[in-house]
Amino acid sequence: MHELSIVTSVVETVTESLKAYPGARVLEVRLRVGALASVVVESLEFCWEIAAQGTPLEGSKLVVNVLPVVVHCEACGQDVELEGIQSFRCPRCGEPYHEMRQGRELEIDSIEIDEAEVKP
Ligand SMILES: [Zn+2]
Repeated sequence: MHELSIVTSVVETVTESLKAYPGARVLEVRLRVGALASVVVESLEFCWEIAAQGTPLEGSKLVVNVLPVVVHCEACGQDVELEGIQSFRCPRCGEPYHEMRQGRELEIDSIEIDEAEVKP
């Protein structure tokens, strides 16, 4: 399963960053996932428990923040947020956009351990 390999690599990354905090317990891991990253959030959450088993992350919570797609429209001269991923045109003026600014992310936002906050 695609999502399982994603969360497995997240667990590995977090475990790696925990080396600086011996004995720390992970409470929560927050992910930033773009709307176009083609992952199913529910599957990520479901696989999290499996991937975290037997690691310092066992029992932690996975929080997924889905980021909307933001494109830069040259006609409007600004960044606009797409309402869905069905249409690849600027929602303001209807022109095809030139550049995607946000929407394909798949990264660790932050990790919460015992009390401190860790930025990977
Ligand atoms: Zn536009």
